[in-house]
Amino acid sequence: MLRACNSRVEPTPVAAPRLLAHSPELAADLGFDEDFMQGEDFARVFGGNALLEGMDPYATCYGGHQFGHWAGQLGDGRAINLGELIDAKGAHQVLQLKGAGPTPYSRGADGRAVLRSSVREFLCSEAMFHLGVPTTRALSLMGTGDEVLRDMFYDGRSAMEPGAIVCRVAPSFLRFGNFQILTQRRDEETLKQLVGFTLKHLFPELGHSEPDRDGALALLYEVARRTAVTVMGWMRVGFVHGVMNTDNMSVLGLTIDYGPYGWIDDYNPDWTPNTTDAQRRRYRFGEQPQIALWNLARFAESLLPLVGEAAPLEEALRCYVDVAEAERRAMWVGKLGLKAYREGADAPLIEGLLKLLTAAETDMTIFFRELAGFDVGDAASGLAAVRPALYAGEPDPGWMPWLEAYAARLTEDGLDPSERAARMNAANPRFVLRNYLAQVAIDRAEAGDLGGVEELLDTMRRPYDEQPGREHLAERRPEWARHKAGCSMLSCSS
Ligand code: AMP
Ligand code: MG
Repeated sequence: MLRACNSRVEPTPVAAPRLLAHSPELAADLGFDEDFMQGEDFARVFGGNALLEGMDPYATCYGGHQFGHWAGQLGDGRAINLGELIDAKGAHQVLQLKGAGPTPYSRGADGRAVLRSSVREFLCSEAMFHLGVPTTRALSLMGTGDEVLRDMFYDGRSAMEPGAIVCRVAPSFLRFGNFQILTQRRDEETLKQLVGFTLKHLFPELGHSEPDRDGALALLYEVARRTAVTVMGWMRVGFVHGVMNTDNMSVLGLTIDYGPYGWIDDYNPDWTPNTTDAQRRRYRFGEQPQIALWNLARFAESLLPLVGEAAPLEEALRCYVDVAEAERRAMWVGKLGLKAYREGADAPLIEGLLKLLTAAETDMTIFFRELAGFDVGDAASGLAAVRPALYAGEPDPGWMPWLEAYAARLTEDGLDPSERAARMNAANPRFVLRNYLAQVAIDRAEAGDLGGVEELLDTMRRPYDEQPGREHLAERRPEWARHKAGCSMLSCSS
């Protein structure tokens, strides 16, 4: 029996660490000024070539259910926690390098990450934060000066790619799998310690510091609640995680592990960006709330030794269902600009809308954003939201009756049009990190031009604002990107 949650391991030095991009507001929150960020010391430490005094790096041990099956021990195979600091708000933040070299959990792999996947993680972490969805953050994107061998399409054509390291930041990177592995090993003692640690340090507001039955149940309720908020946030902004394995589920309810994720262009609940999941589509957009519940059930099972019986754990899982439903309603109130959700009456309105959005390829982000300009006195004005969102053709005749029903519904609410538009524009972003935009920025970055990364990072700082001059970043996916790798589909190779 190992009776351990972590292994001490230091990053493996790289050839030529160089700061490629960073998040200035996160750096400021952490107390890092621009001089430090741009300096030699930063490059050395965040490229993995040196440690700051007091750093005692480690990788954590976790297991997980991957694609519905228990996969045994996984662990941080390429992520190394450097240590913790206290940010400007007094909160503890862990600094973690992803791609910093092998750990005891690398299972024969190289512990490295390539530039393309690191750009995607860096940009999407920050985009998600500014969209208001809980997430791990990204402080820096470092080039390593080393090359990494990857078979991007899993077709035997391996190639060298530039390596990179992202510094991720979160109060904790604990995953469901950190708990699961202990229960699977029947290591109740370490499980108790981990639950006690989690309650004391990550959830002090729950008022439970003992890993007893009540503490374990309080933890499950809170994890369930947070998970519901985050997943419904994904549904609101059109994000598909792509690999919702239990080792990629944060106990803090943060979006974590940006791999083959994607953003919905045309509204399609069946879409998944992950080529590994293309057949079964377990992690498709519309299924995410269900999958989160399945994952929470696995997390609940891992707490069984502390609770002793299943019934109260099952009861706690209902918290997820209740919070997800409340969040779903709040989401629709925002997306449609309603005063409040109406039991009964609003369900058919929403169902009718989703049918229309699914029937013809209609851009989710553009449609909802444009809908804020709807004139209640002129239902046909809604077609001005549909037209720019359509990938082909003219609006279906079914739109007019729906728009009339929507106008009637809004008239009952009687909200001032500017008030309604403000509510909608706070729920419906103008800008999301469209798959093809990230890929264009990656192509430029691989050619040595970081302008695209900077432009997207800056745009995604204010995703709900109109940003004159940046209309080109809010357009429909162009035809050339429909089937291009990186734009419409991604492998797990990273
Ligand atoms: P993921 O699908 O990215 O969440 O990764 C699943 C598991 O594989 C985790 O334990 C990762 O740490 C590990 N892993 C992925 N890529 C590498 C790599 N290049 N080197 C070592 N471990 C890796
Ligand atoms: Mg992972």
